[in-house]
Amino acid sequence: MENTRIYLDESEIPTHWYNVVADMPNPPLPPLGPDGNPVGPEQMLQIFPGTILEQEMSGERWIAIPEEVRQAYALWRPSPLCRARRLEQALGTPAKIYYKYEGVSPTGSHKPNSAVPQAYLNKVAGIKRLTTETGAGQWGSSLAFAGQMFGIAVRIYMVKISYEQKPYRRSMMKTWGAEVFASPTNMTEAGRGFLAKDPNSQGSLGMAISEAVEEAASRADTKYALGSVLNHVLLHQTVIGLEAKKQLAKIGEYPDMIFAPCGGGSNFAGIAFPFLADNAAGKKVRLVAVEPTSCPSLTKGEYAYDFGDVSGYTPMMKMYTLGHDFMPPGIHAGGLRYHGESPLVSQLFHEKLIEAVAVPQLATFEAGVMFARAEGIIPAPESNHAIRACIDEALRCKASGEAKTLLFNLSGHGHFDMSAYDRYFAGELEDFDYPRAAIEESLKHLPKVGSVTATPLHISRGVGYAWLEPIRG
Ligand SMILES: *Cc1c(COP(=O)(O)O)cnc(C)c1O
Repeated sequence: MENTRIYLDESEIPTHWYNVVADMPNPPLPPLGPDGNPVGPEQMLQIFPGTILEQEMSGERWIAIPEEVRQAYALWRPSPLCRARRLEQALGTPAKIYYKYEGVSPTGSHKPNSAVPQAYLNKVAGIKRLTTETGAGQWGSSLAFAGQMFGIAVRIYMVKISYEQKPYRRSMMKTWGAEVFASPTNMTEAGRGFLAKDPNSQGSLGMAISEAVEEAASRADTKYALGSVLNHVLLHQTVIGLEAKKQLAKIGEYPDMIFAPCGGGSNFAGIAFPFLADNAAGKKVRLVAVEPTSCPSLTKGEYAYDFGDVSGYTPMMKMYTLGHDFMPPGIHAGGLRYHGESPLVSQLFHEKLIEAVAVPQLATFEAGVMFARAEGIIPAPESNHAIRACIDEALRCKASGEAKTLLFNLSGHGHFDMSAYDRYFAGELEDFDYPRAAIEESLKHLPKVGSVTATPLHISRGVGYAWLEPIRG
């Protein structure tokens, strides 16, 4: 019998993260402050430690994973790579389907791949506390777990409506020792402002970000942590693709196409970027980011400088965006409801080195249920997007008789999302194609910036922006 699951030994956990910046045809554009100039280190150092900023700005191809982080990774890594043979049979496709399963982590998704090194890098910088925001709770629970690994106190501002509707994610955070508050709170200036405007506010991710950032900026022992979008988060997630490559090599396979769900872009980058390096070296693997039709930042957004949050507190980043005040409908893939897209993924998409497709909600649940019935694992609604796109390709292979090798990232399990599955079975879920006119309306509110050129700052030493020199010492 051929193996269904391809395992690696703990000693094969990658020793380095892969930094795609080193292989990009053009250097990334810098984040801009309110005055339209690149954001300076003093501003960034208020909310992130130098250890993180150095990675954020790095142009070095390989960045060593600290041994303490590899040891914490060993609690669940290397994660399995599996052949979805029963799904192939159910589809009657000649394609081979593989998936990398990130649901084996303590929190059930890929997010601890970055939460753990972020907690560690803050600890070595002497930081005692971390703040963050969380919507559905996947990131908050991952940072709570990571903080516990390294003795860092974690305070989480959880969007009020999720705080009330997702009690078990909240319980997980508390079990791992974090403090969780329903945002908006009356503990921050920003929170008090939101409550003054609307005492019954249900909260939003943008409000929670404002509260978490304000607290981090106001205390020397406290920094802020973000679960996606930024370069260092994408970097940490490359352990997924690096392991997958080794696992496929063990059985003499190489993928023709790779699919991953795409919210802020971190798990897509994680599985795809290590393969992008092979494309630079002459291989041909198609890398497909899969987003919801209800929040189609890559497929229908504009490539422009925009804020990362609704309130306009964050620096502006050049990215595919639907406009920072775009209000995505309440779909069940909470992790994919973001108006923008990571700057690195955006630039690679702009340069046509990666692809994107949008899929409607009902079809994603149909794919997820089909996967669960064939393979057993119940996927997170976010992951269902990648499964949908992969199944569509497998069906095209069936029609054409091509035996492609397909790989997708099963970014998490859906055990905390069963109410969404219930609603799907009850026929209560809907498809939602965002109307072009509504996107154009929110795009009208993009901030105005002059032309920004990439960077005299990205220097030949390959290690990022010149303004980091002072803090690197
Ligand atoms: C958060 C999340 C996503 C989307 O976030 P990315 O940064 O785009 O990876 C996808 N799947 C799961 C299970 C998540 O928790």
